[in-house]
Amino acid sequence: MSTKPSIAIIGAGHAGLVLALGLQDKGYQVTLVSDRTPAEIATGRITSTQLLYPAARAIERELGLDFWQESAPPAHDLQVTVAAPDGDVDFTWTAPYQPGPSSSVDYRVRIPYWLNMFRRRGGRLFHVAVGLEELESIAASHDLTVMSTGKGEIGRLFEKDKARCTYDTPQRYIAAVYVDGLRRTQRLSTEVTAIPGTGEVFFFPVLTITGPADLLMFEGCIGGPLDCWDGIDSPADYLKQAKTVVNKFMPWAADRVADVTLTDDKAVLRGCYPPIVRKPVATLPSGRKVLGMADLVVLNDPITGEGANNAVKCAKTYLDAIVERDGEPFDEEWMNQTFDTYWDYVQWATAYTNITLAGPQHVRDLVRAGTKSQVIRQWHADSRSVPENFFPAWGDAAEAEKFIARHTALATTES
Ligand SMILES: Cc1cc2nc3c(=O)[nH]c(=O)nc-3n(C[C@H](O)[C@H](O)[C@H](O)COP(=O)(O)OP(=O)(O)OC[C@H]3O[C@@H](n4cnc5c(N)ncnc54)[C@H](O)[C@@H]3O)c2cc1C
Repeated sequence: MSTKPSIAIIGAGHAGLVLALGLQDKGYQVTLVSDRTPAEIATGRITSTQLLYPAARAIERELGLDFWQESAPPAHDLQVTVAAPDGDVDFTWTAPYQPGPSSSVDYRVRIPYWLNMFRRRGGRLFHVAVGLEELESIAASHDLTVMSTGKGEIGRLFEKDKARCTYDTPQRYIAAVYVDGLRRTQRLSTEVTAIPGTGEVFFFPVLTITGPADLLMFEGCIGGPLDCWDGIDSPADYLKQAKTVVNKFMPWAADRVADVTLTDDKAVLRGCYPPIVRKPVATLPSGRKVLGMADLVVLNDPITGEGANNAVKCAKTYLDAIVERDGEPFDEEWMNQTFDTYWDYVQWATAYTNITLAGPQHVRDLVRAGTKSQVIRQWHADSRSVPENFFPAWGDAAEAEKFIARHTALATTES
């Protein structure tokens, strides 16, 4: 019989499963509650574009959880393009991800695989959409209950941390499609195109339920011309709208999408949500405490592609803290300290994302400086894995100016 504490995890998304499988590997008896079965997830709609940068991939490898190293198409480079007002390309640059590629594995592939693995290894898996009543009973019967329900309604039990929130409303309307037939102009990359004042378009490879493919994601500034997905419902309409948007805002790429088709009818999504930071501990009516993780407590806009990376890092932080607790109770103080350790990391991903959404002039200058300095290009690609490294330049115009001057002077000396 296990002498280790009993842990319940509500919500079997990216963060919940990394934590559940990590704990299981260390001999914990874990109860995992998912509102959907593996089959429902595998046959449902896409929910993300889930690109993982090298640092998060390394954590998954270290935990023995990256089963798609060979099958997922690698995104070797970050390519950034900025559109000019006349609809042409203003500038573009490319930098490799280090020490290896980034990659995206459709959650409809990843999550069912991990859920089945958890069950096969003897984990207790329940399928129910947890409400307050179920939550009370789960918290009463476990030493620690972690809530990992992402954007799910039940997360409202956790109070908003107003001091840590930058926005109260959505900043982008988001849409995505997974496609076959995207024409290539270079080796596999994450291609980010910024259309100043309008939004952003992303192309990158993905491993989906039909095999390797590509995805197109659109982020339209609210109320602007790229916020154009209202009323788009049928798969055919999604595909048509995706092509229309590329033709209109990235005419230089029109021929690349001319022949794309959806990988499957469920490979479409659209919607918007406000970024939010919540307090990490919720108190149930019984007085019991539950700990929130990943998107539930720190939800960012996907413009920088940091959320899934944060989910992995949050799970690893919580895993280490649970193991190190070594028999001591998981009280409120420990919960707050555990989240604080995660916040030490995720505050930078959050600031990086919120500043990118606003797109101030110094950030535009930092992006443009990638045309002049290889060091700056590499800094853009590498810092996505370690967002703290974007600072202080990303957060301060004077620091950005110094940073650009230092590296462009170096580039001039080198050349
Ligand atoms: C369009 C889009 C594109 C994105 N692209 C990227 C990207 O390229 N790179 C990146 O790093 N991040 C990206 N993200 C963010 C990333 O998908 C999330 O940050 C990540 O999935 C968060 O993981 P999580 O485990 O916290 O939540 P989720 O993965 O959302 O998992 C939460 C789980 O809880 C379940 N649940 C909810 N309520 C209940 C309940 N009451 N009872 C039981 N279960 C429940 C849900 O069904 C779900 O399975 C993107 C997000 C969006 C919306």
